[in-house]
Amino acid sequence: MMMTEPLQFTGLRGVLSRNGSLAKHTSWRCGGSAELVYVPADRDDLGAFVRQLAPDVPLMAIGLGSNLLVRDGGVRGAVVLLHDPGGVLAVADGMIYVEAGVASPKLARFAAVHGCAEAEFLAGVPGTIGGALAMNAGCYGGETWNYVVRVEILLRDGSFVVRTPAAYRVGYRSVRLADGAALDGVFTAAWFSFPSGDASKARARIKELLGKRIATQPLNLPNAGSVFRNPEGDHAARLIEACGLKGCAFGGARVSEKHANFIVNPEGMASAADIEALIAHVRRVVADRTGVLLEPEVQIVGERAS
Ligand SMILES: Cc1cc2nc3c(=O)[nH]c(=O)nc-3n(C[C@H](O)[C@H](O)[C@H](O)COP(=O)(O)OP(=O)(O)OC[C@H]3O[C@@H](n4cnc5c(N)ncnc54)[C@H](O)[C@@H]3O)c2cc1C
Repeated sequence: MMMTEPLQFTGLRGVLSRNGSLAKHTSWRCGGSAELVYVPADRDDLGAFVRQLAPDVPLMAIGLGSNLLVRDGGVRGAVVLLHDPGGVLAVADGMIYVEAGVASPKLARFAAVHGCAEAEFLAGVPGTIGGALAMNAGCYGGETWNYVVRVEILLRDGSFVVRTPAAYRVGYRSVRLADGAALDGVFTAAWFSFPSGDASKARARIKELLGKRIATQPLNLPNAGSVFRNPEGDHAARLIEACGLKGCAFGGARVSEKHANFIVNPEGMASAADIEALIAHVRRVVADRTGVLLEPEVQIVGERAS
């Protein structure tokens, strides 16, 4: 749905822009604009924005854009940018309450300091809690939804609801509604319960996991983490490397030499089309040579440039 009429909003406290570039809000540092971009002041302000948005205008949430390829033609409708370094993070009723805009590594450190175990895996996931909920982010044996007690969602009509995990079908890097439908609404907060543990052990584990990442991932170059989901019983990186694709480049995009399941944008010059073409090429070559059709983990959104 293309927005043709100028939109009028009242009483908002956040920052609204039209045709706002999304490249600086994705970790790949490329891609087009959104017709409307809103950075809410807080949860209630986000609700006020969504309530005033015409019901037929598509709405999308972006956290830290660390799992996202926005095509060069941009996104129709409205995008809300939810990363919030000041978002609420608190202990409540023996659980950890966290707003969706808080960065996942911050939750990992908070949980460690408060004597919780098993949240350490989130220390190296460079997105927001909202993105971790939407993707069921995980690594090193941990997965976000293993620890969720309930979530708060802002629905498209502007109302807030609280749900338990029973409302969702959660899988490997996949979260859908229990009936299999795509997610509705925007996650605005979650309550987590982690087993109790030892703060110094948790801090040491965080250090160890971050060290592993620095040793194995091209963290100094723009990337979006693992491009493909691991196929059952194997690793996408192993298959890509076995096909000789490390270093393979399209325009400004390149398969990382350090980790074959990462695509990097070394000069910051890659277009989203370069990255998407490289993703398609890797899929084709791996399928032809190994018979395994890799499924992208990164979310690809928006329109191709005309
Ligand atoms: C260096 C690097 C390492 C990574 N390592 C891992 C890893 O080990 N494990 C792992 O799982 N992932 C990893 N990732 C991928 C990524 O960090 C995670 O998927 C992360 O949880 C995405 O969070 P985000 O806020 O950046 O989401 P975004 O990229 O902004 O969005 C991803 C998807 O979630 C949706 N979304 C975002 N926020 C909300 C919300 N509040 N409500 C509803 N939907 C929302 C978006 O619409 C989009 O569909 C890595 C990425 C990088 C760059």
